[in-house]
Amino acid sequence: MKAQPTASHYVNGGYVEDEHGQRLEVIYPATGETIAHLHAATPNIVELAIEAARSAQAEWARLKPVERGRVLRRASDILRERNAELARLETLDTGKALQETLVADPASAADALEFFGGAVAAFHGSHVDLGGPFGYTRREPLGVCAGIGAWNYPIQIAAWKSAPALAMGNAMVFKPSENTPLSALALAEIYTEAGLPDGLFNVVQGFGDVGAALVGHEAVAKVSLTGSVPTGRRIAGAAGSKLKHVTMELGGKSPLIVFDDADVENAVGGAMMANFYSTGQVCSNGTRVFVQDGIRERFLARLTERTKKIRIGDPLDPETQMGPLINRVQHEKVLAYIETGKKEGAKLAHGGGMPKLQGFENGLFVEPTIFTDVEDGMTIAREEIFGPVMSVLSFTKEEEAIRRANDTEFGLAAGIFTRDLPRAHRVIAELQAGTCWINNYNLTPVELPFGGYKQSGIGRENALAALSHYSQIKSVYVETGDVASPY
Ligand code: NDP
Repeated sequence: MKAQPTASHYVNGGYVEDEHGQRLEVIYPATGETIAHLHAATPNIVELAIEAARSAQAEWARLKPVERGRVLRRASDILRERNAELARLETLDTGKALQETLVADPASAADALEFFGGAVAAFHGSHVDLGGPFGYTRREPLGVCAGIGAWNYPIQIAAWKSAPALAMGNAMVFKPSENTPLSALALAEIYTEAGLPDGLFNVVQGFGDVGAALVGHEAVAKVSLTGSVPTGRRIAGAAGSKLKHVTMELGGKSPLIVFDDADVENAVGGAMMANFYSTGQVCSNGTRVFVQDGIRERFLARLTERTKKIRIGDPLDPETQMGPLINRVQHEKVLAYIETGKKEGAKLAHGGGMPKLQGFENGLFVEPTIFTDVEDGMTIAREEIFGPVMSVLSFTKEEEAIRRANDTEFGLAAGIFTRDLPRAHRVIAELQAGTCWINNYNLTPVELPFGGYKQSGIGRENALAALSHYSQIKSVYVETGDVASPY
């Protein structure tokens, strides 16, 4: 299996290579095969990318928003036309089941380009009546933005960052995770094909040091990261020391609260989506599932029945529902958390091991895992595992569930299942999380802002909120009379 791109980086509208950069092997996580060899960006490549972005940005920013939007909407159409081939590439890069990548990854990228391509023309400043004189505001781009991605949703992350940035008239240099470098290159090709002028979207590969070089560069005005909290702290610190704008989409340990009156099938389906989609590698996952006493038995019975049926295996088989984890480090980390869960006294209700799959002996698979009798203080209830490991906790009273749900440094997401309408809104209003669901979980339409409270992030992606975060406001005072000067 091969997925070798033309070259490692995409700069100024074309592929470039510099073989002096550290070698980077791209692994298909289901088999351990090497599917591509790339090179990390050297300082020279980083410089070329930033220079290309800097020189292209001003002219792009002078276009009418509707003209910029048209390019994005054309790119969105191409993404949709190539959905099948891009989904396959994403599956090879991440190991995620094709069943998911066919509906979730390039499709979500296309949604973002379509939405921002249309919305930007309606996102403008305001007129302010000052009783004779008046004021108005302009939304202006920031300049060159750096995007730094994680490996769980590579093309979606590249699009969620580049679409609002480009729509607003910025240029972007994007660094994918070194685990998943391929689909951002495909996106760059598509932008060019759709008519995006050269230099506006550049992709440079590499490890943390390449990301750090972008963050520290004086020409970069803003940094948007999707990644872990420790990396977020480092990047926001470095950017803050130079007063750069930041958007931080970081980790979570989100609560999902199931009340006695919930529809059991829906609550179980929601909890499974909240823990097993993308093999559990989703930042907004609801990994602490609080279940009220009266529904507990029915919920657990259906949860284990349905989890047993999850088809795990060959990610390219359209019947497969769960693929492997991204890499060996993550695999070991998830297995270690499962051991810790057992040692600390949680009850293993399902899974916990590595499935034996013929033809995929080197694959980084883990069974979908359910722990019950989990206590708030246990490691598996406090730390982000980033694997298919669900912790089920019990609760009795609404106030208790709210207090325990909020007892975490994170605040990315939260969900509740109940048929009681007043309670649904009352509880959601109390939860300290930026992205919430009532009677569903993990749906992230581009029309709604996405992001975290507390340690889970700064700023928002998606919706008009993202356009705010990729722009700055200029206020203009306009005099219509004479200057009333005291001098
Ligand atoms: P990181 O947060 O470490 O990395 C995210 C991105 O930031 C990567 O592109 C990474 O490059 C880059 N990066 C790392 N250090 C720096 C730096 N100092 N300056 C600039 N850029 C930097 O995530 P990992 O992929 O290493 O995963 C580690 C853990 O993070 C996972 O086990 C998981 O728990 C969590 N995670 C959470 C995500 C979320 O959305 N909540 C997403 C991904 C991971 P490179 O990868 O090349 O080092």
